[in-house]
Amino acid sequence: MEKCIFGPIYSRRLGVSLGINLVPYKTCSLNCLYCECGETTSLTIERKEHLPSQWIMEELIKYASSSRFRNFPPLYFTFAGLGEPTLSSGLGKIVNLIKKTFPEQKIALITNGTLFGFYPELLKEVKEIDLIIPSLDAATEETFKIVNQPHPAVSLAAHWEGLVRLKKHFTGEIWLEVFILSGMNDSEAELTLLRDKINFLSPQRVQINWLDRPAAYQGIQSPPFARLKKIAQFLGGEVILPFSIPPAREQETPVVS
Ligand code: SF4
Repeated sequence: MEKCIFGPIYSRRLGVSLGINLVPYKTCSLNCLYCECGETTSLTIERKEHLPSQWIMEELIKYASSSRFRNFPPLYFTFAGLGEPTLSSGLGKIVNLIKKTFPEQKIALITNGTLFGFYPELLKEVKEIDLIIPSLDAATEETFKIVNQPHPAVSLAAHWEGLVRLKKHFTGEIWLEVFILSGMNDSEAELTLLRDKINFLSPQRVQINWLDRPAAYQGIQSPPFARLKKIAQFLGGEVILPFSIPPAREQETPVVS
């Protein structure tokens, strides 16, 4: 069985974070060229118990009484991992369990965001989450297909509709992630359309992501840092900075993956 909780680790964006994985490797509705987990082996939009949520909840309850939690409590419980977390039909009940068991911690969801347009019930399941980080890497269907290689049922139009629905109903923070690849989604025309979409969506933050680890596909790259900064400025966002552990905490950090 896949590992379902990992860390706490230092996340570039969230600080000390406990990762929660809800799906087997590598189950996703997209097959992004830049995916740092590798190529998608199960391309699906079917929501189900891809991993048994009862087992994940038992692991979280064990973790609550562990010295690992007492000695190094995370700031965030973060749904991320080996694929797309919203594919798990157990997401809502796991969120509720975390809220009750760990009232001091925040909950984050890193998602590609494609399923909000397909499953209205998802909006209820994520209601108690503090921060959602969805992705939008393309402003045209053509670029979406190239960069994100979606499941056949997922168009950019459906993805966009889901993001708009999320923004309308979700009351927590939304940080939109835009992954930039050289020669694929960084043309002036694409970025101008993307900026229009971002302005319309108006998330609390826009974060520009880039390749800092090996990707699923070889031969792709992100623009140099100076250009990423210009793109971030153009889109009204910030570049995610490289990973660094604050020196004072380096010794005490149990990094488990
Ligand atoms: S959505 Fe995330 S997990 Fe899925 S292929 Fe893209 S980067 Fe990988």
